[in-house]
Amino acid sequence: MSKLTLHKIVAKIRYFNYINAIDMRKSIEIEYEEYSSINELSNENRELLLQAMSAANDSYSPYSQFKVGAAVKLIDGKIVTGNNQENMAYPSGLCAERVAMFAAMAQNPNTGINAIAIVGKNKEGQWCAASPCGACRQVISEYENREKKKITIILYADNNKIIILKGVDSILPFQFSM
Ligand SMILES: [Zn+2]
Repeated sequence: MSKLTLHKIVAKIRYFNYINAIDMRKSIEIEYEEYSSINELSNENRELLLQAMSAANDSYSPYSQFKVGAAVKLIDGKIVTGNNQENMAYPSGLCAERVAMFAAMAQNPNTGINAIAIVGKNKEGQWCAASPCGACRQVISEYENREKKKITIILYADNNKIIILKGVDSILPFQFSM
C-alpha cells in the first residue's frame, strides 16, 4: 500500500467519527445569579464575602503576590475563613478554599457547609476573580455528597460583579464519585 492510499483511509475514518459525534452531541446548561456589586447581595451573602476579603488580606503569598480569601458558612451559621498559603516547595502550599473548608470541618466535624465565598486580590491590590481550581471543586463536591446538600458558591467576578452558583455541579460537571 502506498503512503498516499493510507492517508486517504485515515481521513475517511475521521470523517465517519465526526458525523457520529454530531449525532450524539449533548449540551449542559448552567444557571447562576449575577450581581453588579457587593452592595446588591443579601446581608448574609455580603457578610460572608466581606469575611473572605478580610481573610485574603492575611494571605501568605510571597511568591505569586496573588492573595485569595475564602469564607465558609456552616449549617449552624458559624463562619470559618482561610487564605492561600504558599510554600517555597511549590506543591506544599494550599489554596484558600481548601484551607477554609478543611479547617471548618476539622473543627466542626458534626455539621456541614452551607456556603463558601471566594475572592482574589491582585498584585496591584485590587479585588478580582479567583474561581476555584479543579481540586478545590472536587473538595466542595465531597462535602456536598457527605451532607447530601448543595453548597452555595459566591464568587467575586471580573468588573466587581458577584456570581452565585447553587452548587458545585455547575462548575464541575461529570464529577468523580464512587
Ligand atoms: Zn484550589
